[in-house]
Amino acid sequence: METIFTKILKGEIPSVKLHEDELCFAILDINPVNKGHLLLITNEPYPDLQSCPDEVLTHLIRLAKLADAKLRDHLHCDATNLVVNNGRESGQEVPHFHLHVIPRWKGDHKNIQPSKETYTDGQMAEYGKQLEF
Ligand code: AMP
Repeated sequence: METIFTKILKGEIPSVKLHEDELCFAILDINPVNKGHLLLITNEPYPDLQSCPDEVLTHLIRLAKLADAKLRDHLHCDATNLVVNNGRESGQEVPHFHLHVIPRWKGDHKNIQPSKETYTDGQMAEYGKQLEF
């Protein structure tokens, strides 16, 4: 399957590439939440989390740690958000698995937290029972 990211990997669409190896690559996001926002992308176009092999996921999270260190060292950010939109209804625009690493600064006023709900009495325990793994 071809996606915008496979085209970027092949060099058919320009990008600012930060890393490339046998499993994953990294580019700057073209519409960053903050400047330096990067994407870690699997070379194979796995559409979502469940289809991505564990070995690739492990590699991706290791790269996220390196990217986090780079952002802290070079952009002096105070924190990072690691975000995966997993499925269209979660906001995933590109059906090719990727992890956002977003540099954050104290007082940057970026609101990327979803609104929250509250449980009614006993509901939290019910959900807990169903979701044990
Ligand atoms: P998601 O909503 O998690 O699928 O995120 C897709 C991300 O890809 C968005 O943040 C876009 O800004 C980014 N994006 C789309 N096209 C490009 C491109 N050509 N180069 C870099 N980033 C892109």
